[in-house]
Amino acid sequence: MEWLRRPQRAVVVSVPVRMDDGSIQVFTGYRVQHNTARGPAKGGIRYHPHVTLDEVTALAMWMTWKCAVLEVPYGGGKGGIACDPSRLSRGELERLTRRFTWEIADFIGPYRDIPAPDVYTNSQVMAWVLDTYSQRVGHPEPAVVTGKPLELGGSPGREAATGEGCAVCAEQALRRLGIPVERARVAVQGFGNVGIYTALALARRGARIVAASDSRVGVVDPRGLDVEALVAHKRRTGSLAGFAAGTPVAPGDVLAVECEVLVPAALEGAVHEENAGSVRAAVVCEGANGPLTPQADRVLRRRGIVVVPDILANAGGVTVSYLEWVQALQGQTWELDRVQQELERRMSRAFQQVWDKARELDSDLREAAMVLAVERVVQAMRLRGLWP
Ligand code: NAD
Repeated sequence: MEWLRRPQRAVVVSVPVRMDDGSIQVFTGYRVQHNTARGPAKGGIRYHPHVTLDEVTALAMWMTWKCAVLEVPYGGGKGGIACDPSRLSRGELERLTRRFTWEIADFIGPYRDIPAPDVYTNSQVMAWVLDTYSQRVGHPEPAVVTGKPLELGGSPGREAATGEGCAVCAEQALRRLGIPVERARVAVQGFGNVGIYTALALARRGARIVAASDSRVGVVDPRGLDVEALVAHKRRTGSLAGFAAGTPVAPGDVLAVECEVLVPAALEGAVHEENAGSVRAAVVCEGANGPLTPQADRVLRRRGIVVVPDILANAGGVTVSYLEWVQALQGQTWELDRVQQELERRMSRAFQQVWDKARELDSDLREAAMVLAVERVVQAMRLRGLWP
């Protein structure tokens, strides 16, 4: 426990950047490897003004458990730069990314630590990391990052992966409760990458999407929303506001809509002690990281609502990242259906294992997933031993 509560390695770097106006600004960057007993560290790079060493360390630990639950052969890592990317030009963003990559280059690598996109970083940022790292080692190294553009060896299905995996978990949970997915009503809070692809995947499976919200507005229609039209509207206008069908409501109201599946897919702490009592769902599937406070978690458990925890429900992203890394190492490009089948198989297997563990422990799914994850990491540490 003492070993696991600390990160294995935490690197803090200064990142000097020549700004467009000729001045030089120095940013602080972080890369933390929490535990690599099960494989190289894996985790995103986040650009946000609030990024701190503590936050990155906690997120790195989260990745250790997520990879262990899904049995992908990785440890946990995370990185970030304290910056406001909305105030940086494209050129400044590129120079920031390249210098950061250079400063952490001795600590990352395809067999060491593999970054990916996170909040306010994307496939273009990964392309710059890939290029800088490749120039440093003297040969192309596409396996150093995942979430890269398709043209540089990205995997088909990566963008939709987290939502697809979340939909698999929701369907599996419904099945255990004896509710066919075709009869399920679904509410999605946070209509971004995770929320959109979860809604599309559940609609494809026959579920009815009765509510969705973004940071500005919620839309509710008990008869079911046309998800494709909703996604097109969101992509065209940048918001759900002004959608022609359904009733507009406050974003938070979507959490209290009567449904079989509620997917909180926005930010942490969305469901808390005050609003947990108004949740009217049979299953809550955590698309976001940490969308329930511990108090809310207890309230939902007391009320008999099944919560699929984040380290299982949103692990589709890291699972397809792993498939992308495998393709890069082997010089292969897989078809979309192969990626989708692998993702579905791995998510279903992990769900079953967590479900069985919960029955064995007489616990909720969160505790079961954590126990499973910690057991796997500890077993790997025991087998490797302590040296010297
Ligand atoms: P995103 O920025 O694409 O989407 C977030 C959405 O939430 C936006 O539409 C935003 O408008 C909405 N939102 C913000 N505040 C809201 C509020 N108060 N009420 C309703 N909606 C609100 O981000 P994303 O990539 O979809 O990530 C969402 C969450 O999922 C984060 O917690 C992230 O860490 C987690 N996650 C993402 C991935 C991934 O692959 N993208 C993987 C694992 C976990």
